[in-house]
Amino acid sequence: MNIVLLGAPGAGKGSQAVVMSAHYGIPHISTGDVLRANIKNQTEIGKYAKQFIEKGLLVPDEVVDKIVANRISEEDCKKGFILDGYPRTINQADALGGITKLDYVIVIDVDYSVIVKRISGRRMCSCGATYNTSTYDRSDCAVCGKKLFTRDDDKEETVLKRLEVYEKNTAPLLDYYSKKGLILKVDGSETVEKTFENVLKALNNANN
Ligand code: AMP
Repeated sequence: MNIVLLGAPGAGKGSQAVVMSAHYGIPHISTGDVLRANIKNQTEIGKYAKQFIEKGLLVPDEVVDKIVANRISEEDCKKGFILDGYPRTINQADALGGITKLDYVIVIDVDYSVIVKRISGRRMCSCGATYNTSTYDRSDCAVCGKKLFTRDDDKEETVLKRLEVYEKNTAPLLDYYSKKGLILKVDGSETVEKTFENVLKALNNANN
């Protein structure tokens, strides 16, 4: 199954991608994670992407298009993949459509008021685990014990910019994919578990 997860920053795409990837045995591809790893390793892509990411802006299409095209051509994506955070523009969606066929675009629907609250409580670990202060009050990672940190672009002013960018560049993809009959909309306002139930229900209904 080739799946795209769509939704505003903080809607829970990453959390759903992790559980869906384990459930269906297909890889989770997050362009945000790939870019952050490049920044950490100080690669040329990382140095270039950093200036956009820290302002809450989108990294130019060519960069992310290449990352995704390379990744989905790998062997482990033959059975399917879950794209999280890509595409984010109509141009990216066109580029993706040129190299693969999608089965579903799952839209995780969450009110902006909930999103702003969620992002301000978001904490990450360098091992990839993510937490929220509303449900996890420790400062170290439950998986590996390292100290948790707040993403640089999760600061309030950057979050507002990211939401604005989402509205302008990414929200039009709902219409784009709706015309192709690919959209499955699920409520993502509750817990990760509840949202995952909603995702499974939507996929089971669509597959029957
Ligand atoms: P995310 O972890 O998906 O929220 O992505 C973090 C940041 O990485 C975004 O705010 C963008 O600056 C950049 N980014 C991630 N995916 C893309 C994409 N598909 N197109 C452009 N920029 C992206």
